[in-house]
Amino acid sequence: MSEVKILNLGEKFAHVSVGNLKGFEGKQFVKDAAGETSCEISFGSLPSGAAVPFFHSHKENEENYIILSGAGKFQVNGDVFDVAEGSVIRVATNCDRNLKCTSDEPMVYICIQAKEGSLGGYTMTDAEITERENLL
Ligand code: ZN
Repeated sequence: MSEVKILNLGEKFAHVSVGNLKGFEGKQFVKDAAGETSCEISFGSLPSGAAVPFFHSHKENEENYIILSGAGKFQVNGDVFDVAEGSVIRVATNCDRNLKCTSDEPMVYICIQAKEGSLGGYTMTDAEITERENLL
């Protein structure tokens, strides 16, 4: 099982890591380590041929699965479809979901869980260009 490490903490930021995704195994939630207040982010990995051992549903949160490597099948209620590296799957509230790795390599994915309908302004309707000395 991989673990999340806190690498840098500041008044306005948190930098955490689950490490190299090539060797990532299991499931790791990062909300507590990162102090996230708007969403729960988790990393997950399924070995070849494995599925999550249960279906589940959420009452208030939508989930967005981002497939980082590998390929497989995703099921939402009675619908099944193929997913692969680069796929983003949004799953609404009150429905059952599961995914299975069918590739030879493990499927590594991120799941971002956030309150359905909570996104107001975003990107350039929320962001503003600011002036700052570039220290990079
Ligand atoms: Zn979930």
